[in-house]
Amino acid sequence: MAKITTPRPVRGTQDIFGDFERRFTHVAETFERVRRLYCFNRVEVPVFESTAVFARSLGETTDVVSKEMYSFEDRGGDSLTLRPEFTAGIARAFLTEGWQQHAPLKLATHGPVFRYERPQKGRYRQFHQIDAEVIGAAEPMADVELLAMADQLLKELGISDGVTLQLNTLGDAETRDAWRAALVEHFEAHRGDLSEDSLKRLDKNPMRILDSKDPRDRPIADSAPGIDGFLTPEAADFFAAVTSGLDAAGVQWTRNDRLVRGLDYYRHTAFEFVTDRLGAQGTVLAGGRYDGLIESLGGPATPGVGWAAGIERLAMLLEEKSAEVAEVVVLHTDRSYIAMAQNLTASFRRAGIVTRMPFKDDLNLGKEYKRVGGSKLVVEVGGTEFDELQKSDIPLDRMVHVKNLATGAKATVDVERAIDVVRKAVAALA
Ligand code: ATP
Ligand code: MG
Repeated sequence: MAKITTPRPVRGTQDIFGDFERRFTHVAETFERVRRLYCFNRVEVPVFESTAVFARSLGETTDVVSKEMYSFEDRGGDSLTLRPEFTAGIARAFLTEGWQQHAPLKLATHGPVFRYERPQKGRYRQFHQIDAEVIGAAEPMADVELLAMADQLLKELGISDGVTLQLNTLGDAETRDAWRAALVEHFEAHRGDLSEDSLKRLDKNPMRILDSKDPRDRPIADSAPGIDGFLTPEAADFFAAVTSGLDAAGVQWTRNDRLVRGLDYYRHTAFEFVTDRLGAQGTVLAGGRYDGLIESLGGPATPGVGWAAGIERLAMLLEEKSAEVAEVVVLHTDRSYIAMAQNLTASFRRAGIVTRMPFKDDLNLGKEYKRVGGSKLVVEVGGTEFDELQKSDIPLDRMVHVKNLATGAKATVDVERAIDVVRKAVAALA
């Protein structure tokens, strides 16, 4: 018979389990809690969309659209794309679901996103983002609220040390045009030293050269003119309102006047929370204002601002998280007590007590005690303890022994009272 080989996992995908899974889940749960504090509504959008949703809004020449999208033709011949980010799909939903009536709309979501990139530490082909968006608010206060939320999230995760908020403005259309012309002039003068990718960018979107990771481009990008000399008074006012709002909210930031974002749709505020603890993959959370995005999808002029963060990168920054520990371990002393143990286990769980019961019919109690791990309470169902038996007038088929491994205390109780006794013991241990 031919040997059956096990298919390999797809390059750039991860199976998330154990300590890393606990950190991953902690990030998602903390995000859920924080987004509620800020009154952001949870939204679910499809994992795939028509390719046009991303191609139009992100911009045909961006890295994501030109080389990172998972696009395919479905059986009906339509071109679909696995979402490489959330914003475009949410903007599409805003238009097609008639959510305009709810504007300004504060939305949050998280889930898998897909990009065909070279896999490495902190960079995957299927990864996960948390995402927050405000659609239909042109006010700088919306930018401030989103940044305060991101800042609080990182603080609550306990990873804000060594993470800095780098902030920039990309100005309005007039500012961008003037800055762009100055950048083109600067880059043209260094044409010979630019990478091939950046030469292409020079024609289509010269600002993106500033975002290049190629070491050949870095010195040229770093010596390029910053945006400040080109800001219109309106754009300067907007940025001043954002920075003073951040100061008022107690959010620390630093200016990076060369920070641009990889996608075409950004205006005014652009930002990244960056750490030096993840090597080359140092951006943990990033976003900005995208006032042109909804129009690029054929909608009316609608302002928007938002951010996304890689859950994996945030989880990598977290301390190790220890395994879930049962509050109570229920052991049957003999197979004739299995049903009673199952029944008791079920009532503990219905009472909200975290409970574990082994699957085996015949238990070796000595071995089971070695397996209790961090659990501090063991409930033995059925009679074994001879001295307890003699003292107790509880019938054997109702007898339960509660042992507190932390204090050494033991109690033999009627099964009816077990929940009460255990609940109190759990509370005392907490
Ligand atoms: P990078 O410069 O690292 O490629 P990006 O600008 O492409 O990031 P965004 O599109 O802003 O990233 O996505 C937001 C966040 O998603 C990033 O800050 C990062 O934390 C995370 N992220 C982006 N690409 C990946 C990836 N391939 N694997 C894991 N996380 C990623
Ligand atoms: Mg990228």
